[in-house]
Amino acid sequence: MDEVTVQSKARQFMAGLDLSMISTDLSVYINKVKARLKTEELGEGESGYTLTKRDGTSTIIVNELERIQRQRFSTCHEIGHLVLELGSNHEETPSWSYVKRHENEIWCDVFAAELLMPYDSFKRDVDNEEPSFDLVERLSRKYRTSFAATASRVTALSDYPCAFITMDSSVIRHASRSVPLRKLNAWVAPRTPIPPGSVAYDLIKNDERSAESSTIPQDVWFSDWLQGYDLVELSKHYPEYNETFSLIWFEVDDGPDEPVNTFRRESQMDGELLKEIDGVLPWPGKRKRR
Ligand SMILES: [Zn+2]
Repeated sequence: MDEVTVQSKARQFMAGLDLSMISTDLSVYINKVKARLKTEELGEGESGYTLTKRDGTSTIIVNELERIQRQRFSTCHEIGHLVLELGSNHEETPSWSYVKRHENEIWCDVFAAELLMPYDSFKRDVDNEEPSFDLVERLSRKYRTSFAATASRVTALSDYPCAFITMDSSVIRHASRSVPLRKLNAWVAPRTPIPPGSVAYDLIKNDERSAESSTIPQDVWFSDWLQGYDLVELSKHYPEYNETFSLIWFEVDDGPDEPVNTFRRESQMDGELLKEIDGVLPWPGKRKRR
C-alpha cells in the first residue's frame, strides 16, 4: 500500500456517488459499505472502532464526546479500514507520534481526508488563492473538518510552494508540503528542533497564546536549499495544549510593488487571526486518535 494507491482506491469508492450532502451527512459513504453508524461515550482518547458481523454488515462506533469534526473523520477512517481491508492498530501509539504510528492507521487517515475533502471541489476552492489561515478556516467550516486536517489538505493541493508544520514545544512533529514545494526539493525534517529565527520559535519562547505572521529568510526553515529568498510564515501557538503550527509559503508573484501589497495583506490577516484566536480553539486537542 502507498499513498497514491490509497487515494485512487478512495476515488474509485466515491465515483458515481452523490456527494452534495457530505458536509452534513455521511450516509452515502456509510451505506456503500453496508454499515450503520452509532455514537457512544468512549474512553478518553478513543475515537472509534468497527464491529463486522458474519453477514458482512458492520457497525461503526464513534466517540460522541469528541468534536463533530473529529467524529466525522473517525467515521471515514473506519470506512477506510473496511474498504482497504486493513486491520486496526488503535491501541499502540498516541496520535502525536506521527512517525511511529502503524502504517494501516496512516492509510486510513489518507482515505478519510479524500472522502471528507473530495479532490475536485477542494482543488477548485484552493486554486488561485494564496495560502492563509483565513482560507483554512473557511474551508474547515465548509467541509466540517478539523483545522489541522484542512490545513494539510490545503497545502497538499495548493499550487503555491507551501508547507503546513505542526510542532510541540521543542520539535517539529509533522510537515505536509505542496507539490510545487516537493518539486523544489524543499524538505522540513520531522523530529528536528524548531529553528531559531522562525515565527514559531519566538511564539514558543514567549509562551503566550498568540498568532503572528512575518516575512523571514527562507533558509531559516530550509537550510540545505536555495539561498536568498524570503518566505511568509504565519504561526499560532497554544501553550495550554503544547501545540504550535505554522503555514509557510513563497509568494509567486514577486514584483517591484510587492512589499507594499504584502504588508497590506499581512495586516488584514493579522486582524483575522487576532479575531479568530479569541474564539474556539481550532485544533483537535491532545487526544489519542482512535
Ligand atoms: Zn484505525
